[in-house]
Amino acid sequence: MPHTIEAAKTGRASCRSCKQTIEKATLRFGEEVPNAFSPGEMTFQWHHLKCASEKRPAALKQALEETEMEIPEKEDLLKTCEVSGKNQKPTTFPYAEHAPTGRASCMGCSEKIEKGDLRVAIEKEMDAGAFAGKSAGYLHPACAPDHTGEEPVDLFEKIKANTLNLEDSDMESLEEEICG
Ligand SMILES: [Zn+2]
Ligand SMILES: [Zn+2]
Repeated sequence: MPHTIEAAKTGRASCRSCKQTIEKATLRFGEEVPNAFSPGEMTFQWHHLKCASEKRPAALKQALEETEMEIPEKEDLLKTCEVSGKNQKPTTFPYAEHAPTGRASCMGCSEKIEKGDLRVAIEKEMDAGAFAGKSAGYLHPACAPDHTGEEPVDLFEKIKANTLNLEDSDMESLEEEICG
């Protein structure tokens, strides 16, 4: 897992959420993101744990569940992650959502994805010369494993970890559609 929790080694980094300095030896959450200044390399963006539980709930939740460190107030942080996650759109691909419009076509089968249907969002490389970059691409859940080349179960687990704002019943139908 690319995210990490550690005690700050210096007091120089500031929190991406609240912009305040993260004091040396304070526990901080690092989210691994592509380095904008050095293509192909990764770098960490740091957050106070409390701030991350509000702004990066899915990522922090995964890190809290995986870390072997003793985290004071871990239960409270996890609860905040749940609550914040319910109220915001996922920030990490792949995730699932209800299609807000019926305009997007599936990258797998090229058919339209109906408004309101569950869809899987993945990161799409755009190759448009100077405008090359990344954006979201959408898939029918059933088309997602083939298109991404991932095992259905692995893909579903990733989506589940990144998606905190859907109902349990939505996650169940998603699992059925992806895993067949
Ligand atoms: Zn902060
Ligand atoms: Zn499709």
